[in-house]
Amino acid sequence: SRASVVAWDANEDAREALSLWGEGLGEGAVSHRDQSSRTSPSPNPLPEGERALVLADPLALDLTSFAGVVVSPGVPLNRHPIAAHAGDVPVIGDIELFAQARAELPAHRIVGITGTNGKSTTTALIAHICETAGLPTRLGGNIGLPILGQDRLPEGGVYVLELSSYQIDLTRSLDCDVAVLLNITPDHLDRYDGFEGYAASKARLFAMQSAGHAAIVGISDEASAVIARQIARSGRAEDLTKIAPGVCLDQSRWPALQGPHNAQNALAAIAACEALGIDATAIDRGLQSFPGLPHRMERVATRGGVLYVNDSKATNPTSTAPALAAFDRIHWIVGGQAKTDDLDACRPGFGNVVQAYVIGEAAPMFARLLELDMPVSQSGTLDQAVRDAAANAQAGETVLLSPACASFDQFRDYEDRGARFRAAVEALP
Ligand code: ADP
Repeated sequence: SRASVVAWDANEDAREALSLWGEGLGEGAVSHRDQSSRTSPSPNPLPEGERALVLADPLALDLTSFAGVVVSPGVPLNRHPIAAHAGDVPVIGDIELFAQARAELPAHRIVGITGTNGKSTTTALIAHICETAGLPTRLGGNIGLPILGQDRLPEGGVYVLELSSYQIDLTRSLDCDVAVLLNITPDHLDRYDGFEGYAASKARLFAMQSAGHAAIVGISDEASAVIARQIARSGRAEDLTKIAPGVCLDQSRWPALQGPHNAQNALAAIAACEALGIDATAIDRGLQSFPGLPHRMERVATRGGVLYVNDSKATNPTSTAPALAAFDRIHWIVGGQAKTDDLDACRPGFGNVVQAYVIGEAAPMFARLLELDMPVSQSGTLDQAVRDAAANAQAGETVLLSPACASFDQFRDYEDRGARFRAAVEALP
């Protein structure tokens, strides 16, 4: 029989899911298993009688005889040998496999969230509100567990999917019941033909939707506003400024959603949940009880009236800027492996900083950059910085780890760094 799907350079998740239908193979080998022998609990994307191959080197084959090639979102389509074959065979990802398997699933809805920034927060928030409202919910895509590897939902469930541009590029038929675009700012331009190509990739999320499905677009940047106008002109837009009636927009009631950027995330989530038919009271309860994401402005403790916040995920100055804007009277732990010698993106928040504590490789450079604007301690290590900051901070102030740097000089990754921050806070006398 004809092979339906070739997986190659696929991410672990797609490989694992596919290997339940096909077979994981060694270098250069080709094999298959008929889908009749599969035992996967997740939906099977393969039509009856077709089979999956997991290949080490599919470019050695005539791809025109295949129904699709599944690659990882990590494969740069603009400069990878597979690009030469894109005209012969659909090049897709695991989200497209999921989309193709939908018919097999009990009645459900899909919310897809994209944007340059805030995707994970908004995705987790929407999933949290859905759960709070009692809907069976799965979180997946670019966050958490791969969607193909998770158990299917019972009837009435909601799949909430974070979608990177790369994932959208590998998707052709994902018809989101609710599609959300938060914002578009220059990022990942190495993989697109300029900013327009990147924006066009985001717009495809809406092009895949059927009429009557909800489109929610943040319009704080010009590229997103252009997409919103295109959708409006196509005559199928929701009222873009509509907000669930009765939801209180007093952000101070949502502990994990502080800062102007989180107002955008919260509004998008409110609009999405309203489109799902969730009532205003349940939405409000979800906003209040949302615990936030680990390592993103995560409130880890309050000691002696001092709040300790782990924003280890902020690995560049642009990501740190919102954290500095979200609190006043900050003791700011900053540094690590610097990606730039320019902290200007953080400058608008400098007025909120009581003192900076510089750590890691970047410490000497950051000390020079900051010392005209604020007192700076050369703490060196994260543990020392936590002790120094704790010694100085007064009740009502915030000790914030928002390093604006990669972690690899002193830690395994940003999660390791965040965990060490939490441990250092817990070890305080
Ligand atoms: P993503 O999944 O898109 O990378 P996250 O939700 O993980 O986004 O947030 C990463 C960082 O981006 C946050 O720590 C914050 O600094 C910043 N951020 C979050 N939401 C927004 C937003 N709506 N606009 C701009 N920046 C944001």
